[in-house]
Formats: sequence, structure tokens, C-alpha cells
Amino acid sequence: MSSRSNESLSDIKSLVGRMILMQVTEHLFLSAQQLLDSEVSIEERVRRLEVLHSQMKWFNSERTRILDQLQVKIFTQISVEQRMAMDTSRHVYELREGLNGLNLRLNSMQEDINCPICLSPWTSHGTHRVVSLRCGHLFGNNCIRIAIRRSHRCPICRRRALHGDVRRIFSRRLIQ
Ligand SMILES: [Zn+2]
Ligand SMILES: [Zn+2]
Repeated sequence: MSSRSNESLSDIKSLVGRMILMQVTEHLFLSAQQLLDSEVSIEERVRRLEVLHSQMKWFNSERTRILDQLQVKIFTQISVEQRMAMDTSRHVYELREGLNGLNLRLNSMQEDINCPICLSPWTSHGTHRVVSLRCGHLFGNNCIRIAIRRSHRCPICRRRALHGDVRRIFSRRLIQ
């Protein structure tokens, strides 16, 4: 959680604390007035009621003021948290996009070094050395020989291909 969000939370906590303190004070004040009321004259009771009334008015206006502040603080807090949630989801989105890009690059690298028939890497020599057809597609030598014998076509683009079309090539990306 950010420091700004923490600040806002502690503001809210202190406001709630003040609210509770005021409720307790108000309650004690009222109780004390009631106890005294039975022992004093009518005039004195009226005077005290008036004092009580003005103090109650102050309590109420103060309570309203604090409630308004609380409302503002809570709305601020909610918008801070919403922005943080949006930031997080944007980071997740960017991370996912980056991973997709990396995946695509790894796939194309795989295609650059792997025979599309047997999916194993081709080699610079031996039975699975890299060769091309006239169409330009690359394969391991023994794999494309078998494919041509069967169908006389390139397994990828389906153009006609003969044994005489097989060319040895010198790839820069070789495992062996
Ligand atoms: Zn192969
Ligand atoms: Zn082809």
C-alpha cells in the first residue's frame, strides 16, 4: 500500500476516534445533568436546560462537520485504491504482452532451427543435415527424402518437389 493511502487511512481512523470520544462525552454530560435536576429549583433547571440545549447544538454541528470530513476522506481513499487497482491491472497487461512477444520470438527461433517434419533440430552434416527445396523451405535431409518419395511435394507449401531439387544449404543457426 502506498504512503498516500496509509496517510488517508490514519486520517480516517483519527476522525472515527474523535467521533467516538464525542459520543462518550455527550453521554456523560447528559447523565450528569439528569442527576442534578432532582435537587435544584425550576429556574435553575430551565437555565441548565438552555445551557444543555446550546451545548447539544454544538455537539450536533460538530458531529455533522466530522461526518462530512469522513465522507470526503472515504471517497478519497476509494479513488486512491481504484487507481492502484488500475495500475496493477495495467502492469499485468503489459507483463502479459511482453510474455506473448517473447513466446512468439522463441517460436520463430524454434522454426529457424527445427525440421518441420520431425520437429527436431537439423544438423550441419549427417543424415539430418539441413537442405532446402526450390520453394525455399528447409528440412532435415532424410525427412524430406521420405516426404518426396511419398508425395513429390513440399510438405509445407505443396509445390511439386523432386529428389533433384534438394539442395544442401549452410544455415547460420545450427545445433551441431
Ligand atoms: Zn526432420
Ligand atoms: Zn515449400
